[in-house]
Amino acid sequence: MVKKGPLLVIAVLLLSQTFTAHATRIFGGQYSEARINNLRNNCRKYDWARQQLTDAVEKAGPWLAKTDAALWAMVPGQDLPRTIDVGYDKFASGPKFTGCIVCGDKILPYGNYPYNPDFEKKPWKLTCPACGSVFPTNDFGKYYQSALDEHGLFDPARGDTSLLFNTDHSDPKDPLHKFGVDNGFGYVHNGRAYKYIGYYSWKYWRYINSGLTALADAFLFTGDQRYAHKAAILLDRIADVYPSMDWQAYARRGWYHSDGSTGKGKIEGSIWETGVVQGYADAYDKILSGTQNDPALYTFLKHQYEQYRLKPKGTRDLFVAHVDEGILKTAVEAVFNQRIRGNQGMYQHTVALCALALDTEPFTTKWLDWLFAPDGGAIPELMINRFDRDGSSDEGAPGYATIWGGHISPLAALLLSYPAYTNHNIFRDFPQFRNVYTVAYRMAVLGKAIPNIGDAGSTGLVGTPNVNPQFMAEGYQYTRDPEIAVAAYRANGYSAKGLGLDIFSENPEAINKEIQKLGAAAGPRPTGGYQMSGFGLAVLESGKGSSAIALANNYGRTIHHAHADMLNFDLFAFGHWLTPDLGYPEFATNIPSVTEWTRSTISHNLVLVNEQPQKGVWGGHTRLFKQLNGFGAFELDGRAAYPGLKAYSRTMFLVGGSGNGTIDSNAYVVDIFRVKGGHDHVFSFHGPPGTASSDGLELLRQEKGSYAGEAISRGTKAAGFPYGYSFLYNVKKDLNPPARFMVDWAAEEGYRGITGSNNIHIRMHALSPSDDVAVADGDPPQNKPGNPKKLSYLLMHRKGTDLNSNFVSVLEPYRNQPFIKSVERLDNSNDETIVLRVEKVNGTIDYILYNPSSKNEVTLPNGITMKGSIGYIEEKNHKATRAVLINGTSLRYKTLNLRSAGVIEGRVVKMYRGSGAEAWILVDSKAPLDQSIVGEQIIIETKGARDASYPVRAVKKEGTLTRVYVGPGTFVSNVKNKGSAQQLSYDFEEGASFQITTHNAWPARN
Ligand SMILES: [Zn+2]
Ligand SMILES: [Zn+2]
Repeated sequence: MVKKGPLLVIAVLLLSQTFTAHATRIFGGQYSEARINNLRNNCRKYDWARQQLTDAVEKAGPWLAKTDAALWAMVPGQDLPRTIDVGYDKFASGPKFTGCIVCGDKILPYGNYPYNPDFEKKPWKLTCPACGSVFPTNDFGKYYQSALDEHGLFDPARGDTSLLFNTDHSDPKDPLHKFGVDNGFGYVHNGRAYKYIGYYSWKYWRYINSGLTALADAFLFTGDQRYAHKAAILLDRIADVYPSMDWQAYARRGWYHSDGSTGKGKIEGSIWETGVVQGYADAYDKILSGTQNDPALYTFLKHQYEQYRLKPKGTRDLFVAHVDEGILKTAVEAVFNQRIRGNQGMYQHTVALCALALDTEPFTTKWLDWLFAPDGGAIPELMINRFDRDGSSDEGAPGYATIWGGHISPLAALLLSYPAYTNHNIFRDFPQFRNVYTVAYRMAVLGKAIPNIGDAGSTGLVGTPNVNPQFMAEGYQYTRDPEIAVAAYRANGYSAKGLGLDIFSENPEAINKEIQKLGAAAGPRPTGGYQMSGFGLAVLESGKGSSAIALANNYGRTIHHAHADMLNFDLFAFGHWLTPDLGYPEFATNIPSVTEWTRSTISHNLVLVNEQPQKGVWGGHTRLFKQLNGFGAFELDGRAAYPGLKAYSRTMFLVGGSGNGTIDSNAYVVDIFRVKGGHDHVFSFHGPPGTASSDGLELLRQEKGSYAGEAISRGTKAAGFPYGYSFLYNVKKDLNPPARFMVDWAAEEGYRGITGSNNIHIRMHALSPSDDVAVADGDPPQNKPGNPKKLSYLLMHRKGTDLNSNFVSVLEPYRNQPFIKSVERLDNSNDETIVLRVEKVNGTIDYILYNPSSKNEVTLPNGITMKGSIGYIEEKNHKATRAVLINGTSLRYKTLNLRSAGVIEGRVVKMYRGSGAEAWILVDSKAPLDQSIVGEQIIIETKGARDASYPVRAVKKEGTLTRVYVGPGTFVSNVKNKGSAQQLSYDFEEGASFQITTHNAWPARN
């Protein structure tokens, strides 16, 4: 009996020591000892790092100055109401939003969140930025204090209601005595609650969180424990209240927050709560090592525990266990049951930050695994189903399509920074993900301008809004892909300045130096076309410097922030978009000017079929793509957007353009739009804003109404007439148009910086018959800076049964004077073969031959013969001086005799079915496949939604077959999880036929 006591005590001690060693880690998982040491060393060595330290210390200063008790008391609890809009009321029968109670709508120009409280100088007050009035009128601070319960938290039931009066009108008989008084649930005026305190509390929480961030950063940089001490007090108190935080209580009152209308959330709505928790987890991870050996901290917390009847506090173990439980585990549980949600990438990032901050098994592995589980974060499905091989998402506009990569990248990087976890690695498992870093840059034609596709930019806006060299440099850091380094360098103005500095690295400038070296060695971005078959963009480029020209055709998404614009093109010449998309609509909402006009087919350079806009689909399909020096061609199939048609395809050529600056060097465009099927075709085209003058048309003014008819006035919502027709006004028509005419658009002064002396034009040589031709005006959105007042549209209309249209035109962008003397069609206009003779002012003659059924020989009266799909001959002084043959075997004219192998055709025998490696196709082809196809597109026949066209990166002979490598990635286009089984769809299937475009050019400089 006597001996038993001490033995037991020893056993307990041992147990508790073992437990302690496991539970109480010294560092967080993300901010490991090594990373923190590197950062602090770098601050001693490098000016740029020291600057970050100085900034962090400055930001934390006011927070460090607060007493422990004051910081602790700042944190409110669940029962302090919060919302992000003072006047919003979901249940109100009148307007959902109200303006300022004093000045009404005058507050609207100050945006969605017009009030910015001054928490230190004007606590619990909101000041209207428009009229300066201040609400609430009562001293809410005093009332708040009167309502604190035994845990130090606001309890509305306890508040001293005698404090609820307008302090400027303290006499109860004063009619304004109760005016503007808010007890936390709003001041009710004309039946509507003005929730001043609710709005204040939302921002107040953000203010506290910003203090936590500032303190954590200052500790990270300085190692000064005073910052960690203050941050720990905030974290400990937040951990007290966080489990009971629930936005739903206020959502039920009809109040507003970022909850995606689910009513879910915690401190904030479910979407923004992802960011709140990210901030907590990150700050906690940063300061953890600073909470050792701080008796003052634990004495203070112990005192609070005793005074406010909280859970036991007073040691570091208790502190860590409390924050782990109260914040990290609570938040992750809330993500699991969707009380915290948000856009794809956001909530996954939240869980990953919590997992690393916790850095404790089995939780960390379990949570990180959850990110990839089908019923969890579902990252594999997201990567396959909603991303494409270009690194863009399923959104139909460049800005929206590149957002997701920006959300997933920090998550992917976070996993990389935590080598202990090896089950998943986004860069390793989804190698195509690396393309998110350059996707925006690759969209920019000539490296200068991203086409305004879908809800993007504004009419004719020139720029690269989504290109971020810093983001690209990070991509290089994670992948070491030299192509990303080169793109970052070019996008950063041909410099590595400021790029790729990694403050957590032992060698923080190493990445920067590699980018510098790779970028400098790569030299300038070459001019030349390219294809993004994932996003759906075909670009041809020609020329150099200010005379460079680019043709961009969009054949990607017509869903999600897209326009119904498949096969629409824009032409970039002389630094301007000359056939501009209307860009971002007036409002991203469903009103006729948006749905029937800006986003619809007729406002684009497209053929509208059967008076119906295109359907929303994933994208179109490549039939051919070839860019040579001074001659480029593509053919794209857009039938997906018009199901049921036999053909809806566009073949375009960019011809010429040596770039020596003379007018003879200009390039021009040949456009062949084929539509087979349907009873009504309208080919719509517009140039830049400015005067459009026609030659060859006899246009009669329609006295009133719109393109929809004389009786239908401008802007009328479609009813009994096609979408968009009423938005075309000032209509002039030729009811008996010739098959050949010209329209010349002179870009107006002021259009995106164009001056009168620029004298920029685009001339359209229309070369096909139609039943009637109209010229009309249509307006771009009028609420976007720099948008023109109106654009002039040309509308060529055909009607009949089972129509077969070939809309053929030549587009001639020029400065000062035209360089094309005449354009003629040499074909008989009856079959699908199209032959153009383009005579230039300088006497050069171009022949362009297009023969879709390439097996037939084309023979012209002048002696030209071609066996093939596309031919081009340039003639000077009666001699052929240049020739190109694409997908053909012979092109002859006088002494010219150009031969080629013809299109390569074959069949897919086997394909790579996984992801995470270099994707390959094993093919069988009649012609032998050798290195000459490297760089060409292999175009595979598919019934799938996605374009199965890939750049050939390498080939390897395997017996009678050839293995074709098309880059890291996957052919899986869709993953469906059915129970434990996975159902995969592919871009194409084994057995599919394929084509590879071939060419020959003379002289052989191509
Ligand atoms: Zn006001
Ligand atoms: Zn558009």
